[in-house]
Amino acid sequence: MIPSTYRSSRLKINLDAIDFNIKEEIKRLNSSQTLYAVVKANGYGHGAVATAKTAIKAGARGLCVSNLNEALELREAEIKEPIIVLSYVEIEYINKAIQHDITLTATSLEWLMLLDKKVKSPIKIHLKIDTGMGRIGLREESEMKEAKKILENNPLIEFEGIFTHFSKADSQDFSYVELQKKRFVNALDIFGREMKYIHTSNSATALWHGAWESNLIRFGDAMYGMNPSGNELEEPFKLKQALSLETKIIHIKKLPRGEKIGYGATYETLESEWIATLPIGYADGLVRDFQGFHVLVDGKKCPIVGRICMDQCMIRLDQEYKTGTIVTIFGENKGTFNSIQSGAEFVKTINYEITCGLTDRLPRIYIKNGQEVELN
Ligand SMILES: *Cc1c(COP(=O)(O)O)cnc(C)c1O
Repeated sequence: MIPSTYRSSRLKINLDAIDFNIKEEIKRLNSSQTLYAVVKANGYGHGAVATAKTAIKAGARGLCVSNLNEALELREAEIKEPIIVLSYVEIEYINKAIQHDITLTATSLEWLMLLDKKVKSPIKIHLKIDTGMGRIGLREESEMKEAKKILENNPLIEFEGIFTHFSKADSQDFSYVELQKKRFVNALDIFGREMKYIHTSNSATALWHGAWESNLIRFGDAMYGMNPSGNELEEPFKLKQALSLETKIIHIKKLPRGEKIGYGATYETLESEWIATLPIGYADGLVRDFQGFHVLVDGKKCPIVGRICMDQCMIRLDQEYKTGTIVTIFGENKGTFNSIQSGAEFVKTINYEITCGLTDRLPRIYIKNGQEVELN
């Protein structure tokens, strides 16, 4: 989908907020620990290239993505820092990774055995240990010992890192993290601690458990200013939300009591009401469950009424406003703030899914040093 730039709905990405969140987190690390910015899924919907460049300027030493295309997009944008693909890449594509100096993850013993057979030039590898996420990685001691032999004997495989992923670091209950830590220590006892990078911390782990045994943190959700726990755990420093979603009133009318709004005629005016139409809908990622959510107009909360359509939706206003009046769905409007978290709770999901779900039909406008900037 192409960005609809001749329409007034848009995402504003405040790069200053990303800069702030990263610098604050780096202050909490010790001198042997570095931060890699996680910019998978188009930077959680914020735009991968712009957020990656901002993160690097703020002090991130490398980047993490989830697949090879996402890594190549960064290389095409002339980003030279190390990039780790955190998930599975088919062995048939390893030369693409090698050609662009992209670090891959060994997700299983089977994958590593295939790599051992197929690799013809040097490649950097991080080995994934599954300590309880149950997704990818080596679990058994016996397979770790086999893997170790390959890593020691094949000079083309540069064993640069070992890592794991905690599945419950965003919870008040720390016991599962403790179990995963124990399992990871067992893996380190097998592989040793001589590799360049040992990493265990996503945002939640970094915020509430520190970098622990590791010297690199994989900082994702929190860099965009979102609390990875929702609101279960308090942020050690006040994160700044980077993303705002704005639109404008394109149509307004006063309806008498008893008039219906939208498909299915699910809303009926209770009295004489001002109803405005906004040029944004579920094809932009404003999913239909947002019916009833309050958006901001002139600093006031106004409900979305009736079903959300593909390209438009309607809101109820407390008074008449002019066509062209700014409406804030997420972000700040005249001193009132709508967090992405509040939207996530309204539609019963996590903040991650809200920003990842905002589609490419919404143009992304970047703000740097308080000014809107053109980025290519
Ligand atoms: C996505 C991801 C991260 C980043 O997680 P956040 O919660 O966004 O900080 C870190 N590590 C792995 C393996 C991931 O898949």
